[in-house]
Amino acid sequence: MKKLVFATNNAHKLSEVRSILAPHYEIISLAELNCFDDIPETAATLQGNALLKAEYIYKKFGVDCFADDTGLEVEALHGEPGVYSARYAGPANNAQANMQKLLQELGQNENRKACFRTVITLILGGEQFYFEGRINGRIATQPTGTAGFGYDPIFIPDGYLQSFAELGTEEKNKISHRALAVIKLTEYLQKNTEN
Ligand code: IMP
Repeated sequence: MKKLVFATNNAHKLSEVRSILAPHYEIISLAELNCFDDIPETAATLQGNALLKAEYIYKKFGVDCFADDTGLEVEALHGEPGVYSARYAGPANNAQANMQKLLQELGQNENRKACFRTVITLILGGEQFYFEGRINGRIATQPTGTAGFGYDPIFIPDGYLQSFAELGTEEKNKISHRALAVIKLTEYLQKNTEN
């Protein structure tokens, strides 16, 4: 089976991506590559960060790889937390604190429109490719549900009444920003790397 390094050690993301790419690719994590470096994520855009991570791995290990970067963009907060989603409430990347800060910033604002956006950078044979997935939804007034991670308990995708955390991983994987980006990545890989 073909191998691709996914420049992450996030167990949730690995299992999401593995379940989507499963029959076609063996996905290697950074730990499996023996890479425990603190890879910089200092760009000002999702695309910039995804490129930083993928380039780092490609330059150091010379392997085909991809990296993703995701942000939750809230319309009434002018796109915040966006590229700063992980550390919105401070460097600890604490999901509870991040959600509380977001709910506080939004207050009673009636415009609760938001979207999750994922950008994937693939480096294949030294060339760069980009794939984007986006899901629109709204921010709930309080967290509900226990599945998933990050902002899942306060994000209700359009067309649903439940948060991502209530919908559960299987349902989320069919419609999520990351799933959409990974599907685009998979379609590209299937078309361009037959045999
Ligand atoms: P990353 O770029 O995928 O590491 O995402 C940055 C931050 O966005 C994470 O630390 C989470 O707070 C949030 N995030 C990313 N993907 C999701 C998701 O699928 N659900 C909820 N929060 C997410």
